Amino acid sequence: MKIVMLGAPGAGKGTQAKMIAAKYEVPHISTGDIFRANIKNGTELGRKAKEYMDQGLLVPDELTVDLVIDRLSQEDCKKGYILDGFPRTIPQAEALDAALAKRGEKMDYAIDVDVPDENIVNRMSGRRACTGCGATYHIVHNPSGKGDVCEVCGEVLVLRDDDKPETVQKRLTVYHDQTQPLIDYYTTQGILKAVDGTQDMNDVFTAITKILEA
Ligand code: ADP
Ligand code: ADP
Ligand code: ZN
Repeated sequence: MKIVMLGAPGAGKGTQAKMIAAKYEVPHISTGDIFRANIKNGTELGRKAKEYMDQGLLVPDELTVDLVIDRLSQEDCKKGYILDGFPRTIPQAEALDAALAKRGEKMDYAIDVDVPDENIVNRMSGRRACTGCGATYHIVHNPSGKGDVCEVCGEVLVLRDDDKPETVQKRLTVYHDQTQPLIDYYTTQGILKAVDGTQDMNDVFTAITKILEA
């Protein structure tokens, strides 16, 4: 089962990807998480990626594509995976398809978690991310049972730098310009499935499982 999650920043891709990964026992691969881990560990890639991320811009394809293609060649990806936050541009999608084709494979589903822009800024301002394990919460819709620390690992929860309203606006513009064209790209391939991301997160998940088990 190979799945691409599409949707605006804050649509709930990561939340759903984690639930799908747990249920179907496939790895959840988030490029945002990979970049944030690199920033935390002070790597060269992290230093470069941060310059773009802090401005709400995409990290250049040259720094992104090989990283993901390498990851997909690891042993745990043999039974499938969920890509969250990649591809985000048409060239990334084409590079992914080319790498899959080389191995005689293809993507199975592209799931678009659809949430209008009006709802996004609220979602993002309430998002809290764990500085330890990357778990994601929402102060209203999905609070940590332990208040301002992570339920899973006990580390402190923070508002991501790029979740401030000014940066969210920029990220939405970038999403519409560079990422939304992927909806047509995967529609043409016949694998696009849209779900209404404004529902409660469990209802979104039910809609996704119906698609995957149809
Ligand atoms: P969100 O889930 O809120 O959309 P992500 O964690 O996926 O945020 O991404 C955070 C930032 O990391 C993006 O705004 C972008 O700068 C960078 N990033 C993540 N994935 C990619 C990608 N595939 N290509 C380019 N930049 C990326
Ligand atoms: P993305 O990965 O698309 O950027 P996230 O999964 O991180 O989005 O979700 C963004 C924020 O919205 C998080 O705080 C998350 O807890 C919350 N959230 C996710 N899905 C829903 C939903 N269906 N309803 C309300 N809030 C949600
Ligand atoms: Zn944690």
